Amino acid sequence: MRTCHRLHRIRSGFEQDILYLKNYAERKAGTATGKSSAKHADTMRQNMARALSSHFEHCPECG
Ligand SMILES: [Zn+2]
Repeated sequence: MRTCHRLHRIRSGFEQDILYLKNYAERKAGTATGKSSAKHADTMRQNMARALSSHFEHCPECG
């Protein structure tokens, strides 16, 4: 499947955020901040899925 540069930028941006939040959640495991960070990482993953699928629907280069 062919994907454009914009898609890679969207995905790598989200992946960096998710990774950062996951690492933070692991460092703070068992604490309230850790839990909220883990939850936020899940939310970001859902946002990424939504952003990517809406990109696929509208992008003339991807598909
Ligand atoms: Zn695209």
